[in-house]
Amino acid sequence: MDNPQKDSRKIEALRQRNGGTLPTYTWPGCYLVVYIDSEGDCFCARCAESGHKYYQLQDYFGIEVGGEADITCAECGAVLSELENDESEDAL
Ligand SMILES: [Zn+2]
Repeated sequence: MDNPQKDSRKIEALRQRNGGTLPTYTWPGCYLVVYIDSEGDCFCARCAESGHKYYQLQDYFGIEVGGEADITCAECGAVLSELENDESEDAL
């Protein structure tokens, strides 16, 4: 198919609920959101947002901050469960 890259409806719905961007954390609750593209790679919110024209985001799930889930972002290599106090510029 030659359709342009398009995120899944689930991702789009999440983006809409968050005011047009992909959230770093789920709300309510303090779970980090991990984004998964059509190839099964995981991305942090920032890379998912900046790269969503290149990836085709399919799904997302939340992991506990500081938890044992050992997931790294396929783009920037960040360990997602350690992103906790990354930068507290939360506008919410
Ligand atoms: Zn990343």
